[in-house]
Amino acid sequence: MRIVTGALVIRHADYGDSNRMVTLITPKYGKIEAVARGCRRLKSPIVNAAELFTSGEYTLFERNGRYSIEQCQISESFFALRQDYDRLVHGVYWLRLLDALVQPDLPAEEIFPLSLRALAYLNFSELPPALITFAFEAHLMALEGLSPRVDSCVKCGQPLEGEARFSAAMGGAACVWCAPASPAISYGARRILYRLPATKFDAFEKLAGHPDWPEAARFFRAYLKTRLSLPEKQYPPLP
Ligand SMILES: [Zn+2]
Repeated sequence: MRIVTGALVIRHADYGDSNRMVTLITPKYGKIEAVARGCRRLKSPIVNAAELFTSGEYTLFERNGRYSIEQCQISESFFALRQDYDRLVHGVYWLRLLDALVQPDLPAEEIFPLSLRALAYLNFSELPPALITFAFEAHLMALEGLSPRVDSCVKCGQPLEGEARFSAAMGGAACVWCAPASPAISYGARRILYRLPATKFDAFEKLAGHPDWPEAARFFRAYLKTRLSLPEKQYPPLP
């Protein structure tokens, strides 16, 4: 059976003389492992289709649950970010997040376009990579139903007004008496955490001049680490 699907390469591993196992995310089929046979030969028509960050329309051949890449119409290879070490560190981390969150046979209809949109920012824009990463993390976790709670106390449920704390382990913001040992979170940072995943992705650009986004990004990362445990060295620098 042949399928044609949009896909993004998130991982690969070489094997044999010229083959590569490629992990793709796709909107309809979720995560797919596909063989790129002969892709490491210079003249292979799929030589670029098996590179990290490459996205495009892939034609896959499926047999007994195993996929191989037949051809690929590349739409974007995000070349600039692959040439810039700082951006690359962030991009590789995103691919690890996607690898951890996107499952085989579970559609990723929203995660897929989000990833391409965010990668376009990381590749083409001058915005700080840490800001783009924060926006990507917040939207990705929201799509998974894993946003921290920030409008009311995670422990007692009271709406938060005025002073608040943030407890990554408890899952979000809390009132002072419910989390006395946790660090204080500013109103501005809490508002960013609340609003960011509820707006369309591009709206994060407006945060660039906001004084509280670095604080929000640091709290979000601390929270994310309690939900997804990647090896410590895979996390990119915080602002
Ligand atoms: Zn409380």
